[in-house]
Amino acid sequence: MQEELLNSVIKITKTRDVDSLEYSLISTIQEFIGCQEVAVYKDLQIQGELAIERSLSLRVLTDREYEWDEREVVRSPEPELVSCLQSACIITVQSTDGVERRWLPITLLEKPIGAIAIISNGLKSSDQVLLNAFCRIFENYLTILHENERDKLTGLLNRQTFEKKLKQLMEKQVIKQHKTVWQSDLRNQHQGATSWLAMVDIDHFKKVNDNYGHVCGDEVLLLLAQKMRQFFRSSDLLFRFGGEEFVMVFEPTDYESINKKLSEFMEVVRSTHFPFVKKLTISVGMSRISPYDFPITVLENADKALYYAKENGRDKLCFYEELIANKLIETHQEGSDIDLF
Ligand code: GH3
Ligand code: MG
Ligand code: MG
Repeated sequence: MQEELLNSVIKITKTRDVDSLEYSLISTIQEFIGCQEVAVYKDLQIQGELAIERSLSLRVLTDREYEWDEREVVRSPEPELVSCLQSACIITVQSTDGVERRWLPITLLEKPIGAIAIISNGLKSSDQVLLNAFCRIFENYLTILHENERDKLTGLLNRQTFEKKLKQLMEKQVIKQHKTVWQSDLRNQHQGATSWLAMVDIDHFKKVNDNYGHVCGDEVLLLLAQKMRQFFRSSDLLFRFGGEEFVMVFEPTDYESINKKLSEFMEVVRSTHFPFVKKLTISVGMSRISPYDFPITVLENADKALYYAKENGRDKLCFYEELIANKLIETHQEGSDIDLF
């Protein structure tokens, strides 16, 4: 038992991404603690609304048969799950037929970000200890993975994770598209909805450093990153790409919506009171992303649009496809000056 237990901890901590970590945790819980169902829930942290996703779940059908389910938005979450997420406390409900439902909070940087739900025929106290320990190992490892993916100053995703995150987002989209076509349910699909990539660069940022020093410059970067986090959804990917350059990736939406969203964000930046700096503006280059595009090509396109914005007055939002359609820039490009790392 002890050896098996150690092996399971090794399995959990061997993974290098959150999805496989969830998979290891669930299979370990199922292996060591008899249960009918285990699931990981995530608070999607969309401001002002309750949005919970069941990230991964395992249902035991028979002795040897299991059913895995991935990512599904939970339309009406059970009240116990909501209480667990809000209070960060373990919640247990026992029904008269002996079935026990238990929710354990998962916290990251002291904030509840999700929960593990387990349905069983009642857990012995030794199993409860084991379950709590697995959840704590999961939490600790989640913190390490989280920190490795983040930029130290701003807490946004770092450039090294860009390709992986973009790939994950694209895969999710392809699965969604297939599901939608298969279910022939096209009601919720916006016409012309695609993902979008924005490349953001602060205008005349060198002046901020030259006039007020690097510490003040860093403070401005930090505050801008906070504004981004508050303004955009937690499902949008926000990267600090270089010194004062940011890349944002948005899930499918139409041109009008993304144009409006980014224009509003630029206005937020214009009207924010940054320390020392009276007025700060940003330039933005946008490009569409289709599931079969290479990340580097999308980055190059957005970079071209950004370059155009810089050359044409700054404090501007330019769309690559629009610039191409209006023959303001050319498509063909020999080589590239963008490095992914
Ligand atoms: P432009 O409008 O053309 O973008 O002008 P700019 O001055 O912002 O452009 P440039 O890219 O030439 O300069 C970026 C400056 O950002 C250079 C450097 O002083 C500053 N910078 C880069 N990384 C950091 C950082 O981590 N902290 C601080 N404080 N400044 C940084
Ligand atoms: Mg720059
Ligand atoms: Mg700049």
